[in-house]
Amino acid sequence: MSLPEIAEVLIVGAGPTGLACALSLHQKGCRNITVVDAAETNANGSRAMVVHAATLEASSIGVAQSLVDAGNPTKTIKGYDLGGSGLVTIADFGSLKSSTQFPFLLVIPQTVTERVLGEHVRAAGIKVLRPFKAVGIQPDQHDKEYTRVLFESGQTVKARYVIGADGARSAIRQAAGIEFMDPSAAPSAPAASSESQGQVALGDVTYTTPQPTLLDEPLFIFSHDGLFLSAPMRVSEGEPSRTYRIVCGVPPNDKAPPSRPDKHYLQGLFNKSGLIVATGGRSYQDIVIDKVAWSTRYRARSSIADTFFTRLEGGQGGAILLIGDAAHIHSPAGGQGMNLGLRDAVSLGTALAPLLASSSLDDAPLQAWADKRRQLGLAIINFTKSIRGVAGGHNGGGMVWIGGVIPVPIQWSTLRSWGFWVLNRSPWLQGLVAWRLSGLGTI
Ligand SMILES: Cc1cc2nc3c(=O)[nH]c(=O)nc-3n(C[C@H](O)[C@H](O)[C@H](O)COP(=O)(O)OP(=O)(O)OC[C@H]3O[C@@H](n4cnc5c(N)ncnc54)[C@H](O)[C@@H]3O)c2cc1C
Repeated sequence: MSLPEIAEVLIVGAGPTGLACALSLHQKGCRNITVVDAAETNANGSRAMVVHAATLEASSIGVAQSLVDAGNPTKTIKGYDLGGSGLVTIADFGSLKSSTQFPFLLVIPQTVTERVLGEHVRAAGIKVLRPFKAVGIQPDQHDKEYTRVLFESGQTVKARYVIGADGARSAIRQAAGIEFMDPSAAPSAPAASSESQGQVALGDVTYTTPQPTLLDEPLFIFSHDGLFLSAPMRVSEGEPSRTYRIVCGVPPNDKAPPSRPDKHYLQGLFNKSGLIVATGGRSYQDIVIDKVAWSTRYRARSSIADTFFTRLEGGQGGAILLIGDAAHIHSPAGGQGMNLGLRDAVSLGTALAPLLASSSLDDAPLQAWADKRRQLGLAIINFTKSIRGVAGGHNGGGMVWIGGVIPVPIQWSTLRSWGFWVLNRSPWLQGLVAWRLSGLGTI
C-alpha cells in the first residue's frame, strides 16, 4: 500500500487512540482520513488492562458493546491489607448504576481492545497504511494551511490536520517542538528523569492448578513495602478467564527487573506477595505459574505536552494535534492512561469534524478542546500520583508524623490500614472510589 500525496487528516500512529480517532471522525462523516503506523503489524503488547465506564460512555464510535462482549465486566475491586484490615472492598462499581449504562470495570487486555477497534476501523473501510514511520514535519511551501509529514522511506504526505497518536516518544510532538515534561518538575528537568517511581514487573500468566476463588476478581495485596495485583482476563473469544494479569512491585533494594521477566522471576515476586496469607495459608506450591504469555517491566513516570494543539510557523502554518500517550503519560495506577487517550481521541473527532465539514479556519474550537484535554491530563497525573502514594509507591515502609501540638510518628502502612478499615465499612466511600476511577463526570 502506498501513501497518498495529500490528506485532509493524517493520523500518525494506529495504537488505540489513533484507531479511535479515525472511527470518531468517520462516524461524524469525515472520509478523507489517512492512518499510518511505523510497525509492520500491530504488536503493541498486552499493556493496559481495563476500560472504564466513562470511556465506554464516550464511545459514540459504536465499539462499546463489542468491547463489553470481549472483556470481563467486574463489579468490585478487592484488596487484602496485610497490615491488619484483611480483605477489604476498595471500589464498588455496581453503585454507579444510576449514572451509567456500564456500572462495572471492564477488564480487557489492550491487545483485545486494539483488535476490536481494528475490526471496526476495517468495517468502516479505513485502511491503516504500514509500515510508514514519520520522521519529521515541515510547513508546505505553497499552501500555508498544510503541513508536510516526512517519512523514513523518503516519501511525504501533505495534510491539513496532522494528529500525533504516535505514543510516548512521539516523533510528531518532537518535530513540532512541543515540550514534554512532568508538570511538577523544574522547567529544565528532562522528562525521563523528572519522576522515578517504583518499578513493577507485570505479566499475563496461567497457573498449573485451579485458583482460589479469591482470585476470581481483581485483587490487590498491600504489604508493608509493596503491592501486588492479580486480575483474571479473557484473552481469546469465548474462552473462560484462565489468564491472569499479575503486577508485582519490585522491592526498592532489588536489581532492576529483566525487560521480559520470565516465569521464574515472576514466581519469585509472586511468592513474596503475601498471597499465602490472603488465601488462608495455601502453600506456594499450590499456586505455580505455568506459562507467561506476555511480560514486561515498567517504571512509572509522568509527563505532559506543553500544548495539545499548535500551528507551525508562529501560528500561521498547518495544524498539529496530539492525543493519547503522545500528549500525556503517567503511572498505570488506576488504569487511567489508555482510557484518557481514547477519550481524547473521541472528543477530538467531535471538535474537528464540524471544521472539516465547513472548511472553517477558526481555531477556537480546537484550542478549547486542547485546553480542556490538557486540564484533564494534569488532573489524571495528580490522581495517579496520589493512588501510587496510597499504594505505597512513595512511602511504603516510611514513617509519617500526625497530630498537632504533640506530633506522633506512625508507620505509613498503619495509617493506610486505618483508612482501609474505614473504607471497608462505608459503601458510600467504595462508590466514591469507583466513581473517581471510572472517569464519569469528566469524560
Ligand atoms: C508496560 C506498559 C504497561 C501499561 N499498563 C497500563 C495499564 O495498566 N493501564 C493503562 O491505562 N495504561 C497502561 N499503559 C499505557 C497504555 O498502554 C497507553 O496509554 C496506550 O497504549 C496509549 O495508546 P496510544 O495509541 O496513545 O499509543 P501507543 O499504544 O504507544 O501507540 C502508538 C502507535 O504509534 C506507532 N508509532 C510510533 N511512532 C511512530 C512514528 N514515528 N510513525 C508512525 N507510527 C508510529 C506505534 O507503532 C504504535 O502503534 C501501559 C503502558 C506500558 C508501556
